[in-house]
Amino acid sequence: MVNLLYLIAAICFILALKGLSSASSSRGGNLFGIFGMVLACCAAFVSTSNIGLVLLAIAVGGSIGLFIAKKVSMTQLPEMVAGFHSLVGLAALLIDFAACFSPRLFDICDNSGHIFVSSLFEIGLGGAIGAVTFTGSVIAFMKLRGIYKSRAIPLAFNFVLLALILLSVLVFVLTENSSYFIIASVLSLIFGITFIVPIGGADMPVVVSMLNSYSGWAASGIGFTLHNDLLIITGALVGASGAILSYIMCKGMNRSLFEVLFSTGVNIAIAGKNKGQNRSYKRGAPEDAAFLLKNASSVIIVPGYGMATSQAQHSLKEMADILKKEGVSVKYAIHPVAGRMPGHMNVLLAEANVPYEDVFELDEINNDFASCDVALVVGANDVTNPAAKNDPTSSIYGMPILEVSKAKTVLFLKRSMSAGYAGVDNELFYAPNTMLLLGDAKKTTEAIIKVL
Ligand code: NDP
Repeated sequence: MVNLLYLIAAICFILALKGLSSASSSRGGNLFGIFGMVLACCAAFVSTSNIGLVLLAIAVGGSIGLFIAKKVSMTQLPEMVAGFHSLVGLAALLIDFAACFSPRLFDICDNSGHIFVSSLFEIGLGGAIGAVTFTGSVIAFMKLRGIYKSRAIPLAFNFVLLALILLSVLVFVLTENSSYFIIASVLSLIFGITFIVPIGGADMPVVVSMLNSYSGWAASGIGFTLHNDLLIITGALVGASGAILSYIMCKGMNRSLFEVLFSTGVNIAIAGKNKGQNRSYKRGAPEDAAFLLKNASSVIIVPGYGMATSQAQHSLKEMADILKKEGVSVKYAIHPVAGRMPGHMNVLLAEANVPYEDVFELDEINNDFASCDVALVVGANDVTNPAAKNDPTSSIYGMPILEVSKAKTVLFLKRSMSAGYAGVDNELFYAPNTMLLLGDAKKTTEAIIKVL
C-alpha cells in the first residue's frame, strides 16, 4: 500500500514538473505537486512506527517554516530558496553521519557489522554532495542578501580540493575507515565555500539553479541510505530538472557550464573598478514620461529586479491598460536572468494578471526594439547593459542583453545612478536617447498614471 502511494505520488511530481513548464498550465502543475506531497506524507505516516516523534518534528519545523514564510517579503524569496537548499544539504550530511556510525540502525551492514560496499559509496558520495550543497547554499544566500561579495580564488585550489575529496571517498569505500569519511566531509564543506565564492556577476542565477540540482541529488542520496524509493525518485527529479535548468540558463546567457562553474572571479575585481563615474545624463519627470508614452505607437516594458523590490507590477499593468486604450501597443520583454531567481519576472507579471500573450522572451522580442518608440526599463540594469557586448573585461561579457538602446527613447526607472547586481556601470544611462526617472519604480509609475 505504501509503495503504491509512493508510486502515485512520484507520478504526480512528474506531472507537476510537466505542468510547471508553461505559464498557462502551471496552476495545474502546482495542484499535482500538492496532491503528490499530501499522498507522500500520508504514506510516510502509515509506515512510521514513531508517530509522536514525527508529529513533534512537523510541529517544530512547520512553526519555523510558517514564521519564516510570514516574515519573508517577495523580494527575499530567492535567498530564502537558497537558505532552504542548505537545509537539504545539511540533512543529507547528518543522515550520512548517522548511517556511517550506526549502520545497524539503517540496515546497511552484514552480521559482523561491516557496511556493504554499495552503502559505503552512497554514504561517502552522498555526504560530500550534502556538505557542498550546505556551505555552497549558505554562501549563495549571503551573496543574494548582499552581505557577501564575490572574491577571486585560484582555479587550481578548487581542483586540488575536488581531487582530495574524491580520493578520500574512494579510500573510505575501500577501507571502511570512518576517518576518511570525516575528512571527505570537512573538505567538501570547505569546497562548497571556495567553489561558490568566485562565481558572481551574471553567473549567479546558474549557481542558484545548480544548488537546487545538488539539493535534489543530496535528497536522492538520503533516499538510498533510508531505503526510501520516493525520496530517491523525487531527489532525482529535482536533481535532473535543476541540472537541465542550469544548462538552459547557461545557453540563454551564452556561457558554457564549465565557464560558470570554474570561474576564478578575476573579472569581478575588474568590474568593481568601473563604478562611480561622474558623467552627465538626462533626467526627466513623470510628466515627460507620460507625454512620450501617450504619443508612442509601441512601448516595450523591460522589468528587472527593481520592479520586484518596489512591487511595481500592478501599477505597470494599470499603466499598460491605459496606454492600450489609447491605441498604444504594449509588450513586456523578459530576460532569462532578470530579477534574482529563474522565472522571477514571469511570476510577478502573472501575479498582476498581465496577459501571457503580452509577455515575450529575449529571443522573441529583441528585434522589435529597433521599431519601438519607447523602451520602458523598470528597475532592470544588467540585462540591458551593452558592456555585455562591448567590454571583454566585464564580468557580464558574453551575456545576451535586451537591446533597449535601439528604441527611439529609453526611459529608465530607478532610484539612483548605482550599478546593478553585477556591479558594472551602464553606458546606456548617458546615451542621448535615454531619460532617467529617478525614484522608486512604483511611485514613479503611479505618478505617470496620474498624468496619463
Ligand atoms: P539589476 O540588479 O542589474 O538592476 C536592478 C536595478 O533596479 C538597479 O539598477 C537598481 O538601481 C534598481 N532598483 C532597485 N530597487 C528599486 C526600486 N525600488 N525602484 C526602482 N529601481 C530600483 O537587475 P536585473 O534584473 O537587470 O538583472 C539581474 C541581475 O541579477 C543579473 O546580473 C543576474 O545575473 C543577477 N542574478 C539573477 C538571478 C536570477 O536567477 N534571475 C539570481 C542571482 C543573481 P537603484 O539602486 O539605483 O534603484
